[in-house]
Amino acid sequence: MNFIQTRGVDSAKSEKVTFSEAILSPIASFGGLYVPESLPDLGEEFLNKHLNSSYKELAKDMLSRFEIDIDSAVIDEALQLYDKFDDASNPVPVVKVKENLYISELYHGPTRAFKDMALQPFGVVLSSIAQRLNQNYLILAATSGDTGPAALETFKNRKNIKVACLYPDGGTSDVQRLQMVTEDAANLKVIGINGVFDDAQNALKRLLASESFKKALHEKDTKLSAANSVNFGRIIFQIIYHIHSYLELVRQDAISMGEKVYLNVPSGNFGNALGGYYAWKMGLPVEKIIISSNENNVLTRLIRDGKYDLRDSKVIGTTSPAMDILKSSNVERVLYDLFGEARTKELMESLETEHMYELNAVELKKLREYFDADFCIGAEGKKYIKETFENYNYLMDPHTATCMKSYETCSKPEIKTIAYSTAEWTKFSPVIANALTGEVDTKDIKALESISQVAHLEIPAMIKELFTKEIAQKTVIEKENIEEEILKFL
Ligand SMILES: *Cc1c(COP(=O)(O)O)cnc(C)c1O
Repeated sequence: MNFIQTRGVDSAKSEKVTFSEAILSPIASFGGLYVPESLPDLGEEFLNKHLNSSYKELAKDMLSRFEIDIDSAVIDEALQLYDKFDDASNPVPVVKVKENLYISELYHGPTRAFKDMALQPFGVVLSSIAQRLNQNYLILAATSGDTGPAALETFKNRKNIKVACLYPDGGTSDVQRLQMVTEDAANLKVIGINGVFDDAQNALKRLLASESFKKALHEKDTKLSAANSVNFGRIIFQIIYHIHSYLELVRQDAISMGEKVYLNVPSGNFGNALGGYYAWKMGLPVEKIIISSNENNVLTRLIRDGKYDLRDSKVIGTTSPAMDILKSSNVERVLYDLFGEARTKELMESLETEHMYELNAVELKKLREYFDADFCIGAEGKKYIKETFENYNYLMDPHTATCMKSYETCSKPEIKTIAYSTAEWTKFSPVIANALTGEVDTKDIKALESISQVAHLEIPAMIKELFTKEIAQKTVIEKENIEEEILKFL
């Protein structure tokens, strides 16, 4: 299958590219994104066929329907990384919290957050393409805390790949920062920036589009790619777990085959939600996708009022920092799917020049056939964390907690919900400790211990070790100096 472009075609890029090409240079004509030419239609036959499949069998078959230009042996090697998750036989447990509410836990991978779901296999795929082409690639990653550790973990010591990872200094949890700065493989460079996540992401987008930067890399015999969630090589792995979670509910006798469910997704850059949207379009029985946000509620406003308006918006630092995002990149792929390339180009250009776009009434109605949304502020989130723990003995992180609000406000109670849990409690422990016990200003290490006591949970060894490991990555710079720093590393 080939990939086409959300904003149409300029004269510089070819009209269609292969999966490998879309992975290697994810930015398409006019700054748009690559999307599959069509989505495979799986239908109920596919769901029935995989009712008793393992996660890997399901994944393998789903990927094969996309007919991508990656060897089957490479796909097998990539999917084997799910064996490193807590339970190799079920890397994504789906847990019943209460009547009609199920939580699909996407955080059982090596860095304890859902980015592993896509980045673990993606690392194998990308490295194999680079080796096949006998080229060296620099992967740029911008992270608000979870992409960075997951990207470093997957590319560590992989052939033909170097990674430069930008994070907002002070904008991540201690555990997330330690997961990055204790990585000491020679092919990895971690760079803290004095700024917020959008600064890191904007710097990344600028570098990806910069001809002079590409030229400087060329002199070092290196090409440029990105591991951010605009990369379709990540999105494709995020369709699988939505289908898996649905089949889990069927297996648990919670629903019958064909019954529609809500997918409730804590959203930032919209990769997770887009995976659900594609799964739906491919035949998964979905009632609606519910988009949960924090105080940075641009997506709630878009889905409710049809306006993507950043004119008076500034990123607000919240207790769910992986969702502190204003420009939610993957929304563009939904715009394309619903409204076509000409309109997508118009809307996205308006966002760039006017800092806003507005859907017309017909478009908004169409968007709302698929999505509903609400947002949850930090204090409410903490209340949900405490209540859900006390009433149902289920401990969730502050990102997952945003789903509890929209679950109450957006869903009909008789329809079952799959909400996605995107991080383990260990990654955002000070907020969770505060929610459970009221303690304030605790550092991660103290918070982990107090949660461990209150909730009778073991701190996983890989988290404990972080606090005694040597800091290998010490660079923190102004955003103006990023390019220079990366070239120095190469
Ligand atoms: C990345 C992330 C999100 C947001 O996911 P998107 O796919 O960017 O919408 C939510 N929660 C956590 C913990 C994350 O790491």
